[in-house]
Amino acid sequence: MRWPFLQQPRRLIVYMGLLLALTLFLFGMAVALYTPTWRDAGTFAALVLCAACGVEAIRRLGLPAGVSRDLLGAWWFPAILLLPPVYALLLPVPVFMMMQLRSRRALVHRRVFNTIAVALSGFLASVAWHGVRGDGLVAGLAGTSGAHESLTTVSGVLGALLCCSGFTVLNTLFVVLAARMSNGPGESFRPMWDREAFMLDAVELCVGVTVAVLANISLLLLVIAVPPVLLLQRSLLYNQLQAAARTDPKTGLLNASTWEQEAAVEVARARSERGQAAVLILDIDHFKRVNDNHGHLFGDQVLLGVATTIAQQLRQSDLLGRFGGEEFVVLLPGSDTTEAWRAAERLRSQVGDMEIAVGDVPVSITVSVGVAVIGEHGNDLVELLTAADLALYRAKETGRNRVCLPAGRPGTEGKIPEAREGTSPDRVGPRNPRDQIP
Ligand code: GH3
Ligand code: MG
Ligand code: MG
Repeated sequence: MRWPFLQQPRRLIVYMGLLLALTLFLFGMAVALYTPTWRDAGTFAALVLCAACGVEAIRRLGLPAGVSRDLLGAWWFPAILLLPPVYALLLPVPVFMMMQLRSRRALVHRRVFNTIAVALSGFLASVAWHGVRGDGLVAGLAGTSGAHESLTTVSGVLGALLCCSGFTVLNTLFVVLAARMSNGPGESFRPMWDREAFMLDAVELCVGVTVAVLANISLLLLVIAVPPVLLLQRSLLYNQLQAAARTDPKTGLLNASTWEQEAAVEVARARSERGQAAVLILDIDHFKRVNDNHGHLFGDQVLLGVATTIAQQLRQSDLLGRFGGEEFVVLLPGSDTTEAWRAAERLRSQVGDMEIAVGDVPVSITVSVGVAVIGEHGNDLVELLTAADLALYRAKETGRNRVCLPAGRPGTEGKIPEAREGTSPDRVGPRNPRDQIP
């Protein structure tokens, strides 16, 4: 049996090996410079205990795949600020071991990598924090500084926030680099930070520094810090569970049932207000060949790439979902036939222009699109979907990589219909598919 770690790309193995070697080297150096004290050991034990409570709380709530953010970081920050840097290297070890044993099991090399990334970022942030307060690098490495006094002043707390943001930036950078190295083409579609991730990092930072200020007054105050942190963590996980239930994990788009529910409401509203709305179904052409020729993992990257490309072309009010397999659905509120056709053509050509490569070989993808418009091809969502599906079938039949309307409107299929008066402007502006996650 081969280890999953050894099946990773070579550059990723080298990258992880280098980070591990650096971590061990820094650990040796920090231990040599450090004089242990009972006070430090007590603080460390208290933080491990608090983090253990966090891990238990996560286990009780259940953590399915796709839910990735917890609030364990709240316990890294006090270690960075209150203890010599060697402890920032040590703390993630028992915490991630508990995560692995008590909560969801992850691939061992991923867990080890996360431990290294947190340890290294924490160590560097801690050295900076102690170094600025002490006599430079050596004091920083040994952790001999007036850090405890600093946390009692406003400027000290602001400095602590700055150092800890350094931790967050470094940790994100380590992880994003590894993700880009491991997944190849599709990873380049993912932004390093979106609004949601940024907000969560900011919350974690504020909570962690607040806990550090409390623990600095007395370790006993951790008793009043733990319950609110756990409650916050619980609501954070609950929100992610809710989002995960609405979305498709591979693309981050709405899943089929959520899309149908929300689209049905929009269509009913358009009917009652005598307004316009259109439905598009997009199906990737010959997707089976992509899988057969380049493997399912590459196929998944293509799905993510197509989803992102489509999402970037839509307005905030448009509703995009993954309908199943390699099919996507879009509801365009307020669009008549001309606008829906134009939007569909733009999506088709943008997907066609997408650049995806296997190694150095470029792979091109096309989509066929079926369009149906309220009032013309159906009066409710089921009728619109049926009509759009029929139109999609025509697009496939007539050669693929094209947009079609349902049959029965002579002169329109294969051609852009005449523009009508009162059309709204083209939809423009990028949009992140994760914007759809509440
Ligand atoms: P056509 O142009 O007629 O649409 O041909 P096609 O090959 O795209 O259509 P077909 O329905 O024959 O095959 C769809 C393929 O989509 C088969 C299935 O393996 C693949 N597929 C469905 N879901 C996923 C997925 O989540 N990931 C990957 N990689 N492939 C998927
Ligand atoms: Mg299909
Ligand atoms: Mg297909």
